Amino acid sequence: MTSVVLTGIGELTTNDPSLGTLADAAVVLDGGRVAWVGPTADAPPADRAFDVDGGAVVPGFVDPHAHLVFAGDRSAEFAARMAGEPYTGGGIRTTVAATRAAGDDHLRATVGRLVTEALRQGTTTIEIKSGYGLSVADEERSLRVAREFTDETTFLGAHVVPDGTDADSYTALVCGEMLTAAAPHATWVDVFCERGAFDGAQSEAVLRAGIAAGLGARIHANQLGPGPGVRLAVSLGAASADHCTHLSRADVEALAGSDTVATLLPGAEFATRSPYPDARVLVDAGATVALATDCNPGSSYTSSMPFCIALAVREMRMTPAEALWSATMGGAKALRRTDIGHLRTGARADLVVLDAPSAVYLAYRPGVPLVRAVVRNGEFAWQR
Ligand SMILES: [Zn+2]
Repeated sequence: MTSVVLTGIGELTTNDPSLGTLADAAVVLDGGRVAWVGPTADAPPADRAFDVDGGAVVPGFVDPHAHLVFAGDRSAEFAARMAGEPYTGGGIRTTVAATRAAGDDHLRATVGRLVTEALRQGTTTIEIKSGYGLSVADEERSLRVAREFTDETTFLGAHVVPDGTDADSYTALVCGEMLTAAAPHATWVDVFCERGAFDGAQSEAVLRAGIAAGLGARIHANQLGPGPGVRLAVSLGAASADHCTHLSRADVEALAGSDTVATLLPGAEFATRSPYPDARVLVDAGATVALATDCNPGSSYTSSMPFCIALAVREMRMTPAEALWSATMGGAKALRRTDIGHLRTGARADLVVLDAPSAVYLAYRPGVPLVRAVVRNGEFAWQR
């Protein structure tokens, strides 16, 4: 593997408190790692040089919440919702039927297309959930396909109760035979803790079973209304509680007093025309906040972390710097990763070169393709 030096970086976001944000900076990448960070004038030589010409460089985006293993099209449901029909979460069943009917190659092609789409927008690490199979065989194969693209795979058999069974019987299946089939292909276990999906007791059973099988816990919590999900996440030491749209003061305090990350998914509020979570309250209370796309065909069909950053700044009262941190370091913490989300020496060499003088432009110029190049694991994975 050849070493690379990036010079002429107009603004380098390191996410390292001791380094901060550097002007006229350089970075040396070697062996898939960040080998050196400092002023361009002091940069050591490398096998290959790349002049960024004043552009900003940020750590690769970490998207800790995506549902990419699916088949079917739900654009008509989106159009109907924008015409006034309410969002209930029931459309998941439409995707389940299409996913079960699809072949492995079709699912693989869809995941590959979306991972590439996300990469071109700067995402260098992405979590991928199952949850549109909802049978032992279909959940197992969803995770097997997801594992071909990322190590951050999540077993979400408890996404919704499929037709023809009841919540308690299905929970028992998820905690038993389905978990046994899924666990070899999964890093995480997740549950949709919401009215109409799984209640507090069922959600706790799913997460405890997953933890006992060696998986880390994460949860869909407090999206459509108040509920026990966030406090369950904190009590079980889950890595992340995701959505966090409807929080009580006790929920906010529980998150702030824990190492459970509040992962906010503004694409879901955007695409369901719902009120956004209040990131400002969480940040001010001292909670760790991450941003994610929630990329899925029903309630948030975006793979764009820059779009989520723009929404977080405009709609969730985050500063541009806070939103960028949450889209990089916050995501890393939501996945309990210490090697990504920052650019200090020793970090994995994942970074994004922007066609802009500062990272503020990610929110300042929403909808504009600002990503000029993406480096993943020390290699140029995409370049315009
Ligand atoms: Zn989700």
